[in-house]
Amino acid sequence: MPSPSLTLAIVKPDAVAAGNTGKIVAHLEQAGFTLRAASLVRLSPAEAGAFYAVHRERPFYAGLVEFMTSGPCLPMALEREDAVAQLRTAIGATDPAEAAPGTIRKLYAESKGKNAIHASDSDENARREVGFFFSEGEVAGLWG
Ligand code: UDP
Ligand code: MG
Repeated sequence: MPSPSLTLAIVKPDAVAAGNTGKIVAHLEQAGFTLRAASLVRLSPAEAGAFYAVHRERPFYAGLVEFMTSGPCLPMALEREDAVAQLRTAIGATDPAEAAPGTIRKLYAESKGKNAIHASDSDENARREVGFFFSEGEVAGLWG
């Protein structure tokens, strides 16, 4: 039997500011994800920079850090069978113009930068990213 796994989502500052947090959480729950940890936080530039360190050489990095620190965001540890791939499907393409109908980014994102939600892109990164925001105790026993 396939076992549940964890991934990290972040409701980004644009979606929190627009009042779409609850709708996005409901969308995720309806898509079969179970919320295992969540916390409304305002990231510092150092925190946002470290979280997105993989993109440090990219031209959009400074703008991304500025955006991610512009207001509160909601990191969440989500559990589901095949969580990483299923969440990437649920959120849609990075650019909402290219996102499939019914995906979170198609429904709620304004632009390729201000795109409503983050999702981990591999099991390895999910583990790192859940650990970035949540302690072992907060996601106790879920890593199997
Ligand atoms: N981003 C951007 N411009 C780009 C590509 C990415 O502003 O041309 C931002 C956007 O907020 C995106 C984030 O940087 O969600 C991380 O980029 P990535 O390519 O990892 O996209 P994602 O995994 O979020 O779909
Ligand atoms: Mg990414």
